[in-house]
Amino acid sequence: SPQGAADYLSGLNPEQKLAVETTEGPVLVLAGAGTGKTRVLTTRLAHILATGRAKPWELLVVTFTNKAAREMRERIGHLIGPSAEGLRWLGTFHSVAAQILRRHAELVGLKSSFTILDTDDQERLLKQLLEAANIDTKKHTPKSLAHMIDHWKNRGWTPEKLPPGEDFANGKGHALYAVYQKRLATLNACDFGDLLLHNLTILSQHADLAEEYRRRFRYILVDEYQDTNVAQYLWLRLLTSSTGNVCCVGDDDQSIYGWRGAEVDNILRFERDFPGARIVKLERNYRSTKHILGAASALIATNQDRLGKTLWTEDDSGDKVRVRGVWDGEAEARLIADEIETARKQGIKYKDMAVLVRASFQMRAFEERFVMLAVPYQVIGGPRFFERAEIRDAHAYLRLIQSEDDDLAFERIVNVPKRGIGDTSVQKILHIARENGVSAMQAVRHLLTTDELQARTRTPLANFVRDLDRWRDLANMGTPHWQVTETLLDESGYTDMQKADRTSGQTRLDNLKELTQAMQAFETLQGYLEHVSLVMDLDRAAPESESGAVQIMTLHGAKGLEFPLVFLPGWEEGVFPSQRSIDEKGMKGLEEERRLAYVGVTRAKQDARISFAANRLVYGRWTSQLPSRFVDELPLAHVDPQSDTGYYNGGGAPGMQQPKSRWDDSPSFGGGYSSPSWKRAQSFTSSAPTRPASTPARKAIIEGQSRPVAPKSSSDWSRGDRVFHQKFGYGAVRAVEGNKLIVAFDKAGEKKVIDTFVEKTS
Ligand code: ATP
Ligand code: MG
Repeated sequence: SPQGAADYLSGLNPEQKLAVETTEGPVLVLAGAGTGKTRVLTTRLAHILATGRAKPWELLVVTFTNKAAREMRERIGHLIGPSAEGLRWLGTFHSVAAQILRRHAELVGLKSSFTILDTDDQERLLKQLLEAANIDTKKHTPKSLAHMIDHWKNRGWTPEKLPPGEDFANGKGHALYAVYQKRLATLNACDFGDLLLHNLTILSQHADLAEEYRRRFRYILVDEYQDTNVAQYLWLRLLTSSTGNVCCVGDDDQSIYGWRGAEVDNILRFERDFPGARIVKLERNYRSTKHILGAASALIATNQDRLGKTLWTEDDSGDKVRVRGVWDGEAEARLIADEIETARKQGIKYKDMAVLVRASFQMRAFEERFVMLAVPYQVIGGPRFFERAEIRDAHAYLRLIQSEDDDLAFERIVNVPKRGIGDTSVQKILHIARENGVSAMQAVRHLLTTDELQARTRTPLANFVRDLDRWRDLANMGTPHWQVTETLLDESGYTDMQKADRTSGQTRLDNLKELTQAMQAFETLQGYLEHVSLVMDLDRAAPESESGAVQIMTLHGAKGLEFPLVFLPGWEEGVFPSQRSIDEKGMKGLEEERRLAYVGVTRAKQDARISFAANRLVYGRWTSQLPSRFVDELPLAHVDPQSDTGYYNGGGAPGMQQPKSRWDDSPSFGGGYSSPSWKRAQSFTSSAPTRPASTPARKAIIEGQSRPVAPKSSSDWSRGDRVFHQKFGYGAVRAVEGNKLIVAFDKAGEKKVIDTFVEKTS
């Protein structure tokens, strides 16, 4: 009804409304953070559907993460109800491309059941190829080759199109790339980059097909356009006619994937690509307070390479952005954890707080602190669930059920759990498979009909094939895939193998349980496996966000999101900006880091808190740190440098200054960092041979008087005390024997531990 239509449009400002209602022809919305770009895109989608301009399946909608796609789907459901169902082509570039590829896989020599390899598989395969070519894999690692190939694919280069000069291992780049692509085809597999690359091949070689898709997609909508790479750009161009109804939204200041081949120029090129395109600018920020916006705007203004834009907000509530110096990473974690608890007591929900880090190594300290204080938290992305060995094993079984051609999956689990099929036999099978151009499973089936196998290999192989066939039948009969998974884990002996492992078997079984639970959200096994590969490689977001948990994620993963309270730790030279960007020639890397800082600050709605540590464990080494140059670039008008956090105490270190004196010494906020006292402090800590906080005394000094230190003598312990142990988790004290405790751990069972290794929790 017209009333209904007015509903979803009524909250928009005139520019937003224009972007929503200009449904015909190309539109580019170019605007800063929090100005409602994503909201415009969602509303536009709702508008197109509500006014009957197109059916849901005639819309191509591309978001940057799966999480964003899910949220958009949800919001549209709220806006216009069930008519939003059937948005079949709403997803990330990769998920949409995977769908298209499934339909036409045979055009690039694949079956529609193809598997998408994860990086682990990919690297194992590349290792084989490097070894076969007698290339030193220490010097030219599989990882670096994977990176190179990915880089080529992001630029839309097949082996045939690889420009001269693009190379790997002294002249072997082209050949390796070509062999790799051939191997993938025999495995009926593709890697992540192939999803788009194969699409490009199909769409450019089959004009009729491309035309069909161009007709199908009557409206195209793209979020985070500034981060599209060449392949994605070419793909969009193939699916859009120059007069097409395409709407892209983006912000050049938030282009943070240059290192992955994203080209911010795609934005600038829009007007040329789509003559007569309408460019809409949005300037009102609806997300953040004026202090947050002021800090972020000043920061990004340092960048030379930007279009430049105005942003304003009506929200003049809230405090200045706090900036704090702390002793080390542990102190930073304590500070933030304590502030989270304080905020919680003031009524802010855990899920409304986020800790955004530059690099995942920063996460550990927070995780540990949160576990200790029982602060519920969720790591989004990070050392991920799906990358655990037991999860990979389960996936390998499922992949082999899904597609027998998947030799990498075969190799991974043919002897896991141990079946007595030795490495030599496996290599022999793979060799025969390659020689005959068949899959390993086919080779096995063949071998079983001959007398080439010794009985001790023959029997377990025959059982293995029989089991796989049975599980596949089970799946084909319509047994839900998570039940098939449970069955195969039990029947294969995998569960028993984990039960027998007393150290981490239980954790692994818990993870596998988690896995079968997660699978239930997917209708088909294929859908699930596809989701996994997409989530693992590109999407930094976790499958489902539980409400009520603090969110820990990387700055890259936070793009497009917003939280009332945002913590930005680790603003130190070498961490943020990263060492690599500092070492790089020119300003390109640094400017990208600064855009990342801008993304970070602009995630905050009410409150942003920045911190930096004087000492940090970086990749296993203690180093003394200087505050980030980005800290200096923040304007005092919007920033509150805090010195009295109590998380900075260099008392045991002669010559070490506290930040307070630095703040006091310096006439301006930024100037103080290079003061001689700071330099002196640096030279002291850099010569300190060991981790500064390693001794209990130091720890006590740093912790201050207010925090209890773990009790050291046995008299402090009594039966029934609840404790936490780094390795075994929570438990209760059963008995005290001198400095040793017998603890019944909730998960790990009864153990004798030395008392200094546990912390009292009750
Ligand atoms: P980013 O660049 O970070 O992706 P964005 O431009 O996509 O930001 P949105 O996430 O769409 O911005 O919007 C930011 C916040 O402002 C959201 O909470 C959104 O609901 C709100 N918002 C946007 N437009 C309006 C409006 N017209 N009235 C009220 N709130 C709005
Ligand atoms: Mg957005």
